[in-house]
Amino acid sequence: MRTKHAPIRTCLGCGRKLGKGELVRIGVKNAMPVLDESGRLHGRGAYICPRSECINLLLRKKGRLSHALRISLPREAEEGFLKGLLREKKGED
Ligand SMILES: [Zn+2]
Repeated sequence: MRTKHAPIRTCLGCGRKLGKGELVRIGVKNAMPVLDESGRLHGRGAYICPRSECINLLLRKKGRLSHALRISLPREAEEGFLKGLLREKKGED
């Protein structure tokens, strides 16, 4: 049996490189970003730390998420998605 090497991914918010397991994956479904909690969505994915700090950082980087996911996303949709994530995070605190 081969030991699995944990892939390193970069957080879109703070830019830190972390193991895949420490970040949450954002996938694409119907040309919209979705939180890919199972990590099973096909296609392009972006990663971010599950912290409101990083989500806020990404919110300020306009167009960064849609660029990473290679989708053309209206600014409002990008903001809406990230603000939704923030609300979820707040619920957990
Ligand atoms: Zn981060």
